[in-house]
Amino acid sequence: MAVPALYQEPLGEGVVRCHLCPHQCLLRPGDEGLCRVRRNVDGVLLAEGYGRMAAVSVEPVEKKPFYHFHPGTWTLSLGTFGCNMSCNYCQNWTISQRGSGEGEPFLGRQEVEAQIQELKARQPLLRSIVFTFTEPTVSIEYVRDVAAVAREKGLFVLLKTNGFLSRQPWEELLPLLDGANIDLKGLRDEYYVRQLGGRVGPVMENIARAVEAGLHVEITTLLVPGDFDRVEEVEAIARWLAGLNRDLPLHLPRFYPDFQRGGAPAPWNLLDEARKAAQEHLHHVYIPGSPLPAAGDTFCPGCGTPLLRRRGFRVEPTTFLEEVAGGSYRCGACHAPLALKGSLASPIARTPGL
Ligand code: SF4
Repeated sequence: MAVPALYQEPLGEGVVRCHLCPHQCLLRPGDEGLCRVRRNVDGVLLAEGYGRMAAVSVEPVEKKPFYHFHPGTWTLSLGTFGCNMSCNYCQNWTISQRGSGEGEPFLGRQEVEAQIQELKARQPLLRSIVFTFTEPTVSIEYVRDVAAVAREKGLFVLLKTNGFLSRQPWEELLPLLDGANIDLKGLRDEYYVRQLGGRVGPVMENIARAVEAGLHVEITTLLVPGDFDRVEEVEAIARWLAGLNRDLPLHLPRFYPDFQRGGAPAPWNLLDEARKAAQEHLHHVYIPGSPLPAAGDTFCPGCGTPLLRRRGFRVEPTTFLEEVAGGSYRCGACHAPLALKGSLASPIARTPGL
């Protein structure tokens, strides 16, 4: 289903400018944007990816990854087609680097509402919906509509995004969200332009705006061997993030070759070094899925006592995690507050603290 696209400007003679993302595509009749899901049809820009599903699943919220947002709960993951960037290692390139076809399954507002109803009956730990897998914001009309449905049904709304969006759409989207995991793939604009098909400036500005707006924000940075693998660059990212808030969780997932990139997966010891460097600036730095001891655990920002243990996507509080009035948490050893949004799923067995 195609709907009229938001943030379009008619320029006369059928030509339209799309202001949704910093690419600012200029589209003549018949043209499609770089994201492949917005097309000029007879002088009107249409969002063709609306509701056409590339992927749907129910997953632990930790998998997205969100480690500080209602830990241990489940989320309904929705993915439409398309992306406004073109990372040469994309693991979801078969759905991100293409537009949507008429034959794809359609999940509109009513269908999502029915699905939430059914899932809540089956999965009592379902707490949120997350727009993920590709770049959700290129179908911002869908995100906005379905976010409203999810909130009506009592779910939180999360976004996994590259953050490459124009200022106005981003600021108008923020109030509809409860959390965002935003990729910050480096700080060098040349790397963003040459290998990722984006620009870093707008991403950094959008991260800062989200933090300033009080949104729950987590960050993902991918080290890519040979292209972005200098520990000093990860430390620079951590330093910049710490200037916004030292409690921002930073995730350093492992690179696996895909799409146009060959080579070996990122070495675990490289990720470990990067994590240690980032921990000089940030309280919470993780390597999702790592076999390294405690690489996914949450420690007290005050005294370093372990507060949450993670094994795969399973999360368990230690005996040192204390819940205080109002649903917030703190360290039982030194009483430092832990930046954790929402409650832990229960019941969860407590594990020995140290
Ligand atoms: S959202 Fe798509 S069509 Fe619009 S400016 Fe970005 S890449 Fe171009």
